[in-house]
Amino acid sequence: MENCIFCKIARGEIPAKIVKETDELVAFNDLSPQAPHHVLIIPKQHISTLAEINENNYELMGKIVLTASEIAKELNLEGYRIVANCNEIAGQSVFHIHFHLLGGRQMHWPPG
Ligand code: 5GP
Ligand code: ZN
Repeated sequence: MENCIFCKIARGEIPAKIVKETDELVAFNDLSPQAPHHVLIIPKQHISTLAEINENNYELMGKIVLTASEIAKELNLEGYRIVANCNEIAGQSVFHIHFHLLGGRQMHWPPG
């Protein structure tokens, strides 16, 4: 999508610290980290929210979770949290699906 910031990162038009990349996915460090390790994992394909996942694209979500667990292993994280905010009321601010991988500090529950 032309003006989507994460599409631009996926196309290499905006710089980001890329952690991992495949034909379908890109993982990069969050600009405003909320933990010592904060990686965003996105599909290269523009999908705005999790509400748009359907039988044609759901496999991408499994690949994202697999990629997150691979990155967590590479970072030697003892534990980690994966978060995906769907729509503004849940805290989504960039409307291109992304999973946050957070680790490197004690986490608390429930989230705000
Ligand atoms: P959301 O609030 O939509 O769940 O998460 C969006 C995330 O994208 C935020 O954690 C924010 O810091 C991050 N972010 C927004 N713009 C950029 C950017 O241009 N580059 C990078 N690396 N992260 C971004
Ligand atoms: Zn996009």
